Amino acid sequence: MKDHAKVAVIGAGITGITTAYQLALKGADVTVFEANPYPAMETSYANGGQLSASNAEVWNSVQTMVKGVSWMFSSGAPLLMNPKPSWHKYSWLAEFVRAIPHYEANTLQTVKWAIDARNQLLAMAKAENIDFDHRETGILHFYETKKQFDVAANVSTLLKKGGLERRPVTVQEIGGIEPTLEGDIYGGFYTESDFTGDIHKFTSALATACTRRNVVMRLSTVVEKLRSHQGQIEVFSRVEDERGSSSPGQHKEVFDQVVICAGVHSRKFAAMLGDRLNVYPVKGYSITINLEDAANQAAAPSTSLLDDNAKLVTSRLGKGRFRVAGTAEFNGYSKDIVWKRINPMLKWCHRHFPNMSTESFVSWAGLRPMMPNMLPRVGKGSRPGVFYNTGHGHLGWTLSGATSDIVSELVISETAA
Ligand SMILES: Cc1cc2nc3c(=O)[nH]c(=O)nc-3n(C[C@H](O)[C@H](O)[C@H](O)COP(=O)(O)OP(=O)(O)OC[C@H]3O[C@@H](n4cnc5c(N)ncnc54)[C@H](O)[C@@H]3O)c2cc1C
Repeated sequence: MKDHAKVAVIGAGITGITTAYQLALKGADVTVFEANPYPAMETSYANGGQLSASNAEVWNSVQTMVKGVSWMFSSGAPLLMNPKPSWHKYSWLAEFVRAIPHYEANTLQTVKWAIDARNQLLAMAKAENIDFDHRETGILHFYETKKQFDVAANVSTLLKKGGLERRPVTVQEIGGIEPTLEGDIYGGFYTESDFTGDIHKFTSALATACTRRNVVMRLSTVVEKLRSHQGQIEVFSRVEDERGSSSPGQHKEVFDQVVICAGVHSRKFAAMLGDRLNVYPVKGYSITINLEDAANQAAAPSTSLLDDNAKLVTSRLGKGRFRVAGTAEFNGYSKDIVWKRINPMLKWCHRHFPNMSTESFVSWAGLRPMMPNMLPRVGKGSRPGVFYNTGHGHLGWTLSGATSDIVSELVISETAA
């Protein structure tokens, strides 16, 4: 039995940094490897900002499949599938279909984790005094037709089984919750307990807190290979300098355990360690509108919104920023920002917030690390010392508080055994 496990964490996004933090609190000796010069520069950079148990429904349903197929023929649709053959994509889709019978169980698991994650995340922010522009004013889902509203009512019943209160609201109540919202709205569901915040600010500040707790941060360090050898984990990495060129030597370090938190790149590390982890990169976009004057600040919504039909989410980040995020593109690892995807988000803003200027905005694209059954992989791998906390898809910000706690407990209990 060892006192202090020597643990490597691969990746400094929200999953890697929350895992490193929880491990450090529990007494492990932690080293984080990150290819970028700073934490949270990939998918944990400019996401929708929602910590949304109310969005815990998994997508594995026949209705989603039918909608998805119809969207494939419309250029401004929230989902885009490049039909070019790829074993990775089609094996993922086949597994997605096979997970349809588990829709209810997987949604319940997600909502339970999301509720637990809230408390964990707020506790971390409080303990480390982290300002991440968070806003505890709930999340409002809104619908344009009775049909959409009725489907959502069934989802609310399921979420309630998992412990979440998502209450129906009339158009008049919606006007009170978010007075700036305009458009042809039938009704909505409001979840007071959900909240929002800036994932990049939070992850960066928690990474600094990790350093204060003696976590070693190997930034600008690309992990090239992982090997499980004689009960230990070998990490082979290469340091990159600020201009992006690599140092000549590959370094090897040996650890007792490793936790894979490498986002869309977790699949290749799992393969090196004898596990199959079918994470697919599902691309999404965001625009962050700068609300430069008082008039524009008043014209932008303060309550976080989810338009279930357009599949767009919004967050107000502090006084001066309003973020809109969405779309799901199955098109490999490209992070190119495509105007055809940004423009519908701007048009959506003009329709629902006609008094808000979108003149100054920043666009971004990121890759959701998505598992076919929509549940993150949290737990042990097949070989000793190997653990995963990855594949959180569209809910990594929402779930990391809980999944980092679960995986860190497993790591520590393996050390103690
Ligand atoms: C448009 C959009 C909107 C979203 N909105 C929301 C939302 O509102 N709420 C929500 O809960 N979630 C949302 N998400 C999902 C959420 O952002 C992700 O689930 C989460 O950021 C994933 O975190 P991660 O740590 O798994 O991955 P990442 O943040 O990508 O971190 C993985 C890290 O591993 C590093 N890495 C990979 N390979 C190597 C290597 N070889 N060597 C060293 N380092 C390596 C990467 O550089 C990266 O920093 C959204 C996602 C998108 C794209």
